[in-house]
Amino acid sequence: MEANENNVIESFKRAKADIVCLWDNVNTAKLKSTEVASRLERIELQQKAIMAQIDNMKPAKQAVVLNKTNMKLHAKNCFFAKNIKPKNRAVYSSAEELRGMRVDRCACMGA
Ligand SMILES: [Zn+2]
Repeated sequence: MEANENNVIESFKRAKADIVCLWDNVNTAKLKSTEVASRLERIELQQKAIMAQIDNMKPAKQAVVLNKTNMKLHAKNCFFAKNIKPKNRAVYSSAEELRGMRVDRCACMGA
């Protein structure tokens, strides 16, 4: 009878140890998921920062100057653009405005 009682007590002890171990695992998993969530948050912030940098790298809309005598397009700061006579020059806020028009692009406009 006593041996049987001891067996039951031992079984309970083992069950208790198992439960404690499981709790540890649960707590560890909770900590890990919190860690993963905060890492994810940091990654999202980094991603936003990178997206902002990419936006800044996009070429800004550059004003362009058209020489109406030869229909050549220049950047506003181009040496040749500065020498176009006022009556022959037309300024646009960007090359986009001239889309569809037959114009030559000066080397200052890039390839
Ligand atoms: Zn030019």
